[in-house]
Amino acid sequence: MKVLVVGSGGREHALCKKINESPKVEKIYAAPGNYGISKEAECVDIFDNDLESLVSFARDKKIDLTVVGPEAPLDKGIVDEFEKEGLMIFGPSKEAAKLEGSKVFAKQVMLENDIPTAKSSEFTDSDEAKKFAASLVPPVAIKADGLCAGKGVVVAHSREEILQTVVQFMDEKEFGEASSRILIEEYLQGQEVSVLAFCDGENIIPMVSSQDHKPVYDKDKGPNTGGMGAYSPAPIFSEKDMEFTIERVLKPTVKAMKEKGTPFKGILYAGLIMTEQGPKVLEFNVRFGDPEAQAVIPRLKTDLVQVMLAACEERLDELVLEWDERPAVCVVLASGGYPGTYTKGYEIKGIDSFYKSGDDFGDKSNEVMVFTAGVKLKDNKPVTAGGRVLGITAIADTIKKAQEKVYNEIGRISFKDMHYRRDIADKAFK
Ligand code: AMP
Repeated sequence: MKVLVVGSGGREHALCKKINESPKVEKIYAAPGNYGISKEAECVDIFDNDLESLVSFARDKKIDLTVVGPEAPLDKGIVDEFEKEGLMIFGPSKEAAKLEGSKVFAKQVMLENDIPTAKSSEFTDSDEAKKFAASLVPPVAIKADGLCAGKGVVVAHSREEILQTVVQFMDEKEFGEASSRILIEEYLQGQEVSVLAFCDGENIIPMVSSQDHKPVYDKDKGPNTGGMGAYSPAPIFSEKDMEFTIERVLKPTVKAMKEKGTPFKGILYAGLIMTEQGPKVLEFNVRFGDPEAQAVIPRLKTDLVQVMLAACEERLDELVLEWDERPAVCVVLASGGYPGTYTKGYEIKGIDSFYKSGDDFGDKSNEVMVFTAGVKLKDNKPVTAGGRVLGITAIADTIKKAQEKVYNEIGRISFKDMHYRRDIADKAFK
């Protein structure tokens, strides 16, 4: 089989590595890919949102399966475009991707199906939003309706901050149309847990739980990032919580989408918060999370391609997934200044010490893996090319051992102004 992976982050590197393990696969292309991905796949110079070029590439190369990493092409309708051409693609249609592309739509689905979530009010008029804001006791969460590259949610801790966010989102149109409609949401307290599931429009298979670390600094201080690290499983999330999430969140969502005539295929990601009343949904995503993918995918023992094909062909009910029982911890190394401005082009020393000729990045036992994101070759040397530069994942018998291992391995890599959190997975010991 020939597989095309769309995207260029650590998540897509983890996907390519796992896809390469499938005996079904003879060739992988990645569009556009990155430095590490180029060891797993042939990288082609097509951007992930250039749907026309992606379709014609897949047609020309007779790609058997396309796998989409990021949300933007899904929101733009990549699945619909591929399916029009009779090309197999793993992911939700444009309509089904609204579960992530519109927070208002997702909230409606949750309310209509009694899915536990935060109370919220929707606004399209900024004066009404401001009037409402004046009556609120902070903190509250303010959410732009559309996709804002992970920057569309502000937890406001004072009335001034609430007002200021409403003005930025709605009057100043910080994210254009995406923030012209907002939700103002009750603040919920608790640890966050991610539960992802493979879906085929009707059946779901949940994956092992994981926990992301969004804020840039230790102890969850500083602004939110795309994610500074993840680990799997999250011990706070019991089997009972998983059962609850399957029955009260994942199944009802997939059933509702089918009933709407827009069945959900692909990855449904429930971003949960563990409140005193149990898990509640903060958001849905319609693809693997990054870095969660870098902690979850390495634990999958079942052939990922087999699972994705079964999802495309609506026969997930035939499969049972097998997981490595051992936990995984992933720490992201970022450029100094990220998530604000940062300088690119610094040489990354030590990264190639993880690369074994003819194989991929990682150690022999596959217990340490490097997944590259913002890394490219310049004058034949790997240099930084993004905010999140790479992730290192370690697998071990316990979370503690995986954490120790990953922080030991980080010592092998360095670049100017490199920074990373030192407390990834500490929450597991609380
Ligand atoms: P979202 O994209 O909706 O998951 O929001 C991004 C982040 O904002 C979440 O990971 C939470 O840390 C925080 N957040 C969102 N909604 C709420 C809420 N209702 N209460 C508390 N924190 C929230």
